[in-house]
Amino acid sequence: MDKLTKNDNGEMVLVNIVEEMVKQKVDEMIKSLDMCGCEKCRLNACAIALNNLPSHYVTTEKGALLGQLEDVEVNYQTNLTVEVMKALMTVKEHPFH
Ligand SMILES: [Zn+2]
Repeated sequence: MDKLTKNDNGEMVLVNIVEEMVKQKVDEMIKSLDMCGCEKCRLNACAIALNNLPSHYVTTEKGALLGQLEDVEVNYQTNLTVEVMKALMTVKEHPFH
């Protein structure tokens, strides 16, 4: 997880919201594809998609992330779905194991 946590109050986190969305989307879409769903393939698909998407960092209170995901999701949804699908196809055709 690419997160920085403040130690003084332990409540604020810095998070790339696109990363969270890509992980969710990969998990969602990998099930409907006839392909390997192991940890390695899932993470490789995440990496490929994330390298093709602009990152979007937010600071948020721990646990408050879901609300922000929904706000940003609308703007990123189309592009994100396309990139995740392309990444999954790449991993499907060329698994790294
Ligand atoms: Zn695999």
